[in-house]
Amino acid sequence: MSYNVTCPYCGQPAILVTGEVIYPAWTKHHHKTYYLCSPCKAYVGTHANSDDEPLGTPAKKERRQLRSAAHKALDPIAKRRGDRNATYNWLAKKMNITPDKCHIGMFDEKQCEQVLDICGEARLKVAKALRGGEKIFRDEGMNVEKFRTIQDPHAAWLYLMKEFIPNAPSSEELMKLMAEAGNSSTNFVALVWARKNPTDPFAIDIEKQLGTINPHTEEVEF
Ligand SMILES: [Zn+2]
Repeated sequence: MSYNVTCPYCGQPAILVTGEVIYPAWTKHHHKTYYLCSPCKAYVGTHANSDDEPLGTPAKKERRQLRSAAHKALDPIAKRRGDRNATYNWLAKKMNITPDKCHIGMFDEKQCEQVLDICGEARLKVAKALRGGEKIFRDEGMNVEKFRTIQDPHAAWLYLMKEFIPNAPSSEELMKLMAEAGNSSTNFVALVWARKNPTDPFAIDIEKQLGTINPHTEEVEF
């Protein structure tokens, strides 16, 4: 069956065609279907094993390339998180749109660029966390001076824990967490940041990275 798909550029109906029309030389796409607006050279693919349900709105080359870039930025986040819906809900919230509107196949150039920015920002946040406690403390509006004056690293860690996690753990739990962080204060900050932001897709990154490091190795790299 064919859905009613309108070309967003000219407003005319897009026509259901096979991949042979879109990619004449690329036989592996010939069995697929697409909605095409010939005058605009705009098209969109369809869901595999569907009744030709469109993946989104027809797009010209630049938009197709940006959608593809947005997918490439978001997919690893969704994969690491292991939950596509939660990742898209996170993205929708960041983009200030409702989850039902959060489909890259429907996005224009500006929205795709937003996705790229959001995914880049999330990476930056983790890098920031890994660079040490002071900047995070400042960004979070916490007392950097007090953090600096604590000489005993265990006491500093305990202070960090109390600041980051509402229910401060016992010292036994703290020791466990320190070991999990490879006894590195930078990794420790990253870990407490991850525990504080469990819904952030990159928190799971930190957990996984720290879960695989040897306790006495160097700082973890992303
Ligand atoms: Zn058109």
